[in-house]
Amino acid sequence: MTDPNPCLGCGLCCTHFRVSFYWAEGDDAPGGYVPAHLTEKVNDFYRCMKGTGQAPRRCHALEGQVGESVACRIYEQRPSPCREFEVYLENGEPNPRCNELRLKAGLSPLKWAPMPSAA
Ligand code: SF4
Ligand code: SF4
Repeated sequence: MTDPNPCLGCGLCCTHFRVSFYWAEGDDAPGGYVPAHLTEKVNDFYRCMKGTGQAPRRCHALEGQVGESVACRIYEQRPSPCREFEVYLENGEPNPRCNELRLKAGLSPLKWAPMPSAA
């Protein structure tokens, strides 16, 4: 059976990319929501999640053991790159970048998204 949320046993994207975004997404800007104390300045326009600015990367908001059990402790306030990095594409196909990371880390590749159960 396909895991409905494989991210909870993965977390690789939170330890691989520089998670950078427009500075005003931080909660120290009007209308911002990302906890600013978990970010660092990249330049006058961008900031990134602390821990992702340089290798070895691990976002400071990530809890748990990568590849086993993880959680984003600011999930509701995560920045736009995290919202846009979808585990499944619109047609249900796994994000090929996920599978690239997972295969390199020795995790099983994702299969197609589970179908919603019939009502
Ligand atoms: S790499 Fe893909 S499967 Fe792994 S946590 Fe990120 S979005 Fe989820
Ligand atoms: S904010 Fe959350 S989802 Fe985004 S990289 Fe950090 S731990 Fe991962």
